[in-house]
Amino acid sequence: METTNLNNRELYRLPWTLPDNAISWLEPTAMCNLACDGCYRENEKNSHKTFEEVKRELDIFQKYRNTDCISIAGGDPLLYPYIIDLVKEIKTRGLKPIVNTNGKALTKELLLELKKAGVYGFTFHVDSKQGRPGEWRGKNELELNELRLHYAQMLADAGNIACSFNSTVYEDTLQFVPGMVEWAAKHIDIVQTMVFIAFRHVVPQMPFDWYAGGQKIDWQNIMYHSDTQRKVDILSTDVLAKIREKFPDFTPCAYLNGTEKADSYKWLLTERVGTRNKIYGYVGPRFMEIIMAGHHLFKGTYLSYASPKLTRKGRSTVLLLSAFDKGVRKAAKEMLKNPFRLFKKAHMQSIMFIQPVDFMPGGEQSMCDGCPDITVWNGELVWSCRLEEQKRFGAFLRSVPK
Ligand code: SF4
Repeated sequence: METTNLNNRELYRLPWTLPDNAISWLEPTAMCNLACDGCYRENEKNSHKTFEEVKRELDIFQKYRNTDCISIAGGDPLLYPYIIDLVKEIKTRGLKPIVNTNGKALTKELLLELKKAGVYGFTFHVDSKQGRPGEWRGKNELELNELRLHYAQMLADAGNIACSFNSTVYEDTLQFVPGMVEWAAKHIDIVQTMVFIAFRHVVPQMPFDWYAGGQKIDWQNIMYHSDTQRKVDILSTDVLAKIREKFPDFTPCAYLNGTEKADSYKWLLTERVGTRNKIYGYVGPRFMEIIMAGHHLFKGTYLSYASPKLTRKGRSTVLLLSAFDKGVRKAAKEMLKNPFRLFKKAHMQSIMFIQPVDFMPGGEQSMCDGCPDITVWNGELVWSCRLEEQKRFGAFLRSVPK
């Protein structure tokens, strides 16, 4: 379906690598209070790690990896009994604690405690295939914007906490993505990031046999599998094409390639600037290069999440950087069409697409080159999206053409 004519060499390749990355992924628990269709973690009761164990994992990250933030994930980390201490610990180590949650266990009181402990941001996973109970049961992606707004407003009321949303994109929910992007634009002042993750599963139509070392594995024993045929090859460019049907100007600026394919967009980043009423434009690759290199130069890490205090400086950013970046120049021109806009705050907002593991015809599995969501397993850094293979089989599985 791809119709985007994207050229990877015209985009900025995010400079993230195994030892030097914006993000690292910590899982203090595998327990969850929802059951998302696309989840790649087995929901395990009594799976809380001890606080000592989690601290050892942080030591491993800090030994091997220059990192800007720690995504505290799971399971749902709000169920972890030492979550407040963990946020404090991460903050004390000079890293940004980001809580990746479905939001269900978040109360105002807990939020204030987390804020006091130093939480930098939240990523809320909200989509229509999470089996949310009560009033959210059966709601589609657009109807769930009301829930997203509830969380965004909670963070805005608490003050200066970065707000992101994640949604898995399935064949039948792709149609809603433009509406979600439109919703995010209307709340650009309180929503800093939207992330769309293409659904992946092992499905019967895959022409592979599976091996852990020399041992053949039944594909139905792989945790992330579906027994029926489903579409598992939605590309970032498919999501982009869908968005462009409604917003033809929507333009990505940066990407991460696949380990097996230079021109695959495993992470595809779009950064836009505007107000609740108007998007002025989309920044280009030079803008992102300046931000990443500048942050690394002055702070020693590549930037992950930006605080609302920073993202609301869209107006000065546009004016300052327009000399260096064509996209920013275009946005500045649009902004200056109406001089009154100079007195209005403008905001920056990131829209990210993630395209997890892709299977090559020869059986190679193309991962995100410079995986930001790498986690710790047995003292080693491993892909969090495939951790369940290590847990069940003691190895990453090889897919061998039949
Ligand atoms: S390789 Fe897997 S864990 Fe790493 S960023 Fe890609 S999808 Fe996430």
